[in-house]
Amino acid sequence: MHAPDILVIGGGIAGLSAAAALSKHARVIVLEAEEQVGYHSSGRSATMLHYALGDRLVRALTLASRPFFDDPPASFSDVPLGRRMPVLVHARDDELEQLDALQAELSQFASLERLDAAGVHQLCPLLRENANHGIADRNGIRLDPHALLQGNLRELRARGGELHTGQRVVTTDRDSGAWTVTTGAGGRYSAPVLVNAAGSWADELAKPAGVRPLGLEPKRRTIITFDAPPGTELDGLPFAKTVGDELYFAPESGRLFASPMDEVPSEPCDAQPDELEVALAAYRMEERTTVKVERIHSRWAGLRTFTPDHHPAAGFAEEADGFFWLAGQGGFGLQTSPAMAAIVESLIAGSDWPVADVAAAALAPGRFFAQQP
Ligand SMILES: Cc1cc2nc3c(=O)[nH]c(=O)nc-3n(C[C@H](O)[C@H](O)[C@H](O)COP(=O)(O)OP(=O)(O)OC[C@H]3O[C@@H](n4cnc5c(N)ncnc54)[C@H](O)[C@@H]3O)c2cc1C
Repeated sequence: MHAPDILVIGGGIAGLSAAAALSKHARVIVLEAEEQVGYHSSGRSATMLHYALGDRLVRALTLASRPFFDDPPASFSDVPLGRRMPVLVHARDDELEQLDALQAELSQFASLERLDAAGVHQLCPLLRENANHGIADRNGIRLDPHALLQGNLRELRARGGELHTGQRVVTTDRDSGAWTVTTGAGGRYSAPVLVNAAGSWADELAKPAGVRPLGLEPKRRTIITFDAPPGTELDGLPFAKTVGDELYFAPESGRLFASPMDEVPSEPCDAQPDELEVALAAYRMEERTTVKVERIHSRWAGLRTFTPDHHPAAGFAEEADGFFWLAGQGGFGLQTSPAMAAIVESLIAGSDWPVADVAAAALAPGRFFAQQP
């Protein structure tokens, strides 16, 4: 029987970043069902850090995370955690009001440039001529999820923590002041604190432990890659997003990638792309740009898992001693991971509260049950 101080279930970015932070204070073991870390959502994302995502709370968590990405500790990673990529949000005439409202909101978080039609097409020559308006944040970051996952793992191990892969938790019981879990591979673990960072499966993990599920909703999102038109200067291209949630695209390893920003409800699973969303990605790319999607080079899908209010949940379950929720990172789990890990460290180990603009109550899992008898 392994008996650390804290067990973290889930080797995605949420679990690994929280485990690395907690390992400053306690003996931590991370249990991951798959043979490798980041196999699910954390390895399938669009990997952008930008502010045109989520709402004010998500933006505040992103802003608080930014210094970590710009200047990670030397011990964390020997490669950069990402590279600068401009973010362009573009709009047609009929979408102008939406763009104005977004600009007002985002300008509290990022330094933005307002672009006219010429400016939009200078930054992104692939857009159709009706993309008449834009806002640009020249300071976006295309994150490197591999470097992020491995950096957190390196910190965890350097502080004596462990990652056990191929250990899918199948039973969870509370007894004599500790959580005891068993895994499909025959592992047995016990710890007074259990952190549920099981991503899309977090509700499934809670139910047999006698903990009320939060009502998490995994939603599938699809990405395709394809060739850019010959002669396209890929290096200068931005991450380009419609002002509404219709399409984003960006350069990707010598090609382009695009997503129709689909949000298809799904069970927790090894998400696979559906032909309909693949076709929609190509259709919207051709509708909004002059690119012809002749042949799809690759496609994948991943789950973005939301709480009912689309804010993440971080905190102890009120009804179960030592059961800590870390779930619902939706479409912003990479870019908010440093701030969320510091919040987990504060709530479990008592370090200073790291994000002045976000209250613990706004993340507390109990908020979903406040109205219930
Ligand atoms: C297409 C797409 C685009 C995205 N774009 C962005 C973006 O641009 N920027 C951004 O910041 N975020 C983005 N995201 C969101 C981001 O990827 C997620 O918020 C983040 O990866 C969630 O991390 P996680 O650790 O909670 O989940 P996961 O990475 O899914 O990790 C959970 C882990 O728990 C494990 N697990 C589950 N049950 C058990 C069990 N019983 N026992 C042991 N282990 C278990 C799973 O195997 C899994 O590895 C995107 C996501 C998708 C799908």
